[in-house]
Amino acid sequence: MADGTLRNIGPIILLGPPGAGKGTQAKRIAERYGIPQISTGDILRDNVQRGTDLGLQARAVMARGELVPDSLVCDMVAGRLRQADCARGFILDGFPRTPAQAGWLDAFLEREVFDNGRGGQCLPIVMRIDVDYNRLLQRLTGRRTCLANGHIYNVYFQPPRVADICDVDGSRLVIRNDDREEVIRERLKAYDLQTRPVAEYYEQKGRLVVVDGDLPVDEVSERVLREIENHAVTAAGGS
Ligand code: AMP
Repeated sequence: MADGTLRNIGPIILLGPPGAGKGTQAKRIAERYGIPQISTGDILRDNVQRGTDLGLQARAVMARGELVPDSLVCDMVAGRLRQADCARGFILDGFPRTPAQAGWLDAFLEREVFDNGRGGQCLPIVMRIDVDYNRLLQRLTGRRTCLANGHIYNVYFQPPRVADICDVDGSRLVIRNDDREEVIRERLKAYDLQTRPVAEYYEQKGRLVVVDGDLPVDEVSERVLREIENHAVTAAGGS
């Protein structure tokens, strides 16, 4: 069993461009500490698929590779963070993506306190995963997704045993609508213009940790988990 399951971990925020490996690392953190991964992209795609009001509003914006309006995403995140499984902590993957979302999140966390089990507040740990631009393009254009269970492959780096079929459950693998090259360029542009400043927002508050996402995936995980442990020790006053 995960060694951190009983501890309050607090909010973990993963920043980084599309294709940096946030989803992969978020899943590993979730498994290790028994806290949920909250991927705003996944929740939005699920809404699009189910044809909800939110999905209808987000669909065209997402297909263009642009960002969904802040108010829609913040309301969606608020609803998710109030669920009981977030009480000990959670991992935000793909949120906040604009400085306005970051400001909203700070205010939300302050209002709806996530304490550290000792009567103090758990400050979020914010990690940005950096990856070389050309490698990002390869990761995104090569990405194949199992729609049934979300398993992710890459035709260049981690191909399935049988082309286009998921190793785990035999489902057909698909190219995400927004993983087409012209959309990818828009998504990376949106990252540069709107999301890069989010890291600056946290850096100014002295809360940003940068992790080298060009390293092999297991080494990235090691560093990410080490940062979380360091943060937990500091938050507990070195005990
Ligand atoms: P992702 O899977 O995180 O790359 O997200 C896919 C798409 O969902 C993005 O290109 C945006 O259109 C939308 N999206 C996801 N998260 C956010 C967010 N925090 N703010 C605005 N749009 C988002």
